[in-house]
Order: sequence, then C-alpha cells, then structure tokens
Amino acid sequence: MKAFVAGSSVIRAMFEEGKKMASVYGAENVYDFSLGNPNVPAPEAVNKAIIDIVREEESVFLHGYMSNSGYEDVRKVIADSINKKHGTAFDEKNIVMTVGAAGGLNVILKSLINPGDEVIAFAPYFGEYRSYVGNYDGNLVVISPDTETFQPKFDEFEEKITAKTKAVIINNPNNPTGVVYSEETIKKLADIMEKKQKEFGTEIYLISDEPYRELVYDGVKVPYPTKYYANTIIGYSYSKSLSLPGERIGYLVIPSEVSDFEDVSSAANVATRILGFVNAPSLMQRVIARCVDAEVNIKPYNDNRELLYNSLLEYGFECAKPQGAFYLFLKSPVEDEKVFVEAAKKHHILMVPGSSFACPGYVRIAYCVSHDTIKNSLPAFKELAKEFLG
Ligand code: PLP
Repeated sequence: MKAFVAGSSVIRAMFEEGKKMASVYGAENVYDFSLGNPNVPAPEAVNKAIIDIVREEESVFLHGYMSNSGYEDVRKVIADSINKKHGTAFDEKNIVMTVGAAGGLNVILKSLINPGDEVIAFAPYFGEYRSYVGNYDGNLVVISPDTETFQPKFDEFEEKITAKTKAVIINNPNNPTGVVYSEETIKKLADIMEKKQKEFGTEIYLISDEPYRELVYDGVKVPYPTKYYANTIIGYSYSKSLSLPGERIGYLVIPSEVSDFEDVSSAANVATRILGFVNAPSLMQRVIARCVDAEVNIKPYNDNRELLYNSLLEYGFECAKPQGAFYLFLKSPVEDEKVFVEAAKKHHILMVPGSSFACPGYVRIAYCVSHDTIKNSLPAFKELAKEFLG
C-alpha cells in the first residue's frame, strides 16, 4: 500500500499544492502549469447533445447496462468516422468503448500481458505507464531519451527488444514534449518490430496512446499507425480532444489484422468488465454518437504556445517548439531540475519535474491555462531567468 502511494503521481500532488497556494495568495497570483486539465470549454454541441439525449432517448436504454464493449451503434459511428478521416476499414467489432485513455490502456495491458512480460516505453513518457504495466505484473523497459529531437532512439530500441517483449507503447503527440512522431518515425519503428517478431517468432503489439491526436499546430500531420504495422492497437480519448476529462470516455481500436484478433478482442471485452469498469459511461457514449466529429477550438492553446515559447526563448531558456498537445518541455538551467522547480514555486510558478517522465534535467509546463495566466507569469519567468542564467 505504502509503495504505490509513494510512487503515485507527482503531477496530482502538485495540482493539490497549487490549489493550496491559490487559497493563500489568490488564484490570479498563482501560475499553475502542473496539470493537463483542458481550459478550453467542450464544444457547445456536446452540452446540447446531453440535454437532447436526456429528453429524447428512452431512459431504461440510456441508463442501462450494455455489451461490455459499448453500444453497437456508437462503435459503428466511431469506426465510420475513423475510416473517413484516415482511409481505414474498421467496423464496430474493431472498437471497444473505454473509460478514457487510462481505462483503455489498462484494458489492453490486462488483455495482453502475462506476469514477467516486458513492455517498452520511450522516455520521456507519461509516468503512469509504469503503474499500468505493474498492475498486471509486467516489467516496463525504458528507452533513454534523445534530448536533441525527443524522437525514439532506434538503436537502443532494437537492442532492448527481447523474446519477452509483449508490447511497445508510444504516445503521439507526446506528453510531456509536445513532439509529434512523423510518418518516417512510425515506419522505422514498424520495420524494427517486424524484424524482431520474425527473429523471436513472437507477437509484439504496438500500443499507440493518442489522447492528443486532434491537438496539433501549424498543419502537422499525425500518422495513423495501423496503416504501417498490423499488430497496432490504438487507445483514443475524448478527455482532451473534446475537453471532457472528468466524463471518462474513450475507445480502443483493435484492427482485424491484429494477430489473434478474436482472442485479443474477447479478452478486452472481459477485461473491461473484470477491471470493474463494466462498460464506459453510457450517457457519454450516446453523446459521442451525436458529436463524433465535433472539435474544440485549439486557437487558445496555439496562442499560449506562441507567447510562452517565444518569451522563454527571449529570456534565455532552451526548449523544442511543441508541435502538438499542450505541453512545453523546458531545459532546466541547472542539472537538478527539482532545484529549479522549487525556486519557481517561490515565484508562484508550478511546473512538473522531468524526472516524473524519466527525463531529469527538464521541466514540463502545461499551457492549457488562460492566456492571462501566461501573460501574468512572464515577469516571474524573467526573474527566474535572471536568477539562473544571469
Ligand atoms: N495518456 C497520456 C499520455 C496522458 O497525458 C493522459 C492524461 O493526461 C492519459 C493517457 C489519460 O487520459 P484519460 O483522461 O483519457 O484517461
């Protein structure tokens, strides 16, 4: 019990600290960049759908149990929408509705992993992957970060794949760097994994965690990975793409081309139930059926990204310009980024240390906050630059 509490999310702890600081200094005087909680409202179509559904749909159906994998018509609508956008050929049997991306990842890891299996992730990675893999007695194997590009280190990846490797998790666009893996990157990963499957005579599943797929800037394209590697499973979520993180709704795509499709799909159905989710929230599923192509306005994120990135560079900080998501991964001006994080707190700035993402020496700034918060935080960042960079 103590071990998992100790290992639990630093991000959540900082969020709680931010709330405390706000009660002491006033919310407008605290620059809380700790949590990826979208501040752009959900599209109006979502709120309208909730009201219409409650009025129009039959109550027993709306609030009842359903197949573990979700309402068939909702899954069909989602499959059609993916096919239209990405030129794929999925139908409802390829979609499992999930309790957000976190629920989806747990369902698929429960389905695939035997105790002792290895799951590879590329640092910096979303820290909860370690807990999710640990939930099923798997071992997380980490590929060290390439801090020049934050793209995967292919040589190290190839070396670390073993006969025990069951899955590889990627996150595109990436939390915490905002980097997008290009088509070339996905193709290279696919080539290496094909080669290793043949070498070991095993199945190695690519799990693509994609809650930020829709949040990209400057026309950057996020490749659809099922097109490049047959054993791909996608975990999608509406938490960020429709600003609905508290509603807990997402889905898994399990293509028919995946090895042992029937078994994997049946296992995901059972896992959804026995992990205690039973099924994804019914009202939200019905909302997605009506709002599958709705979009949040990403302009406020883009405005924040431009102002923050340009200002931090002007003050002398270093960071790669994020292409997607709503995070900026800043190089700490001192080796121990926790010293920098503590110093920033004195200026009421809350950021997450890179070590929470297996990438010390960096800090994550979640810029899904009001534009005023960004503007008002700039003098404090300037002061920090003076303190650390002279
Ligand atoms: N994966 C990544 C990379 C995330 O950043 C998050 C949430 O921040 C999740 C998964 C969990 O998302 P959800 O709220 O959809 O469960």
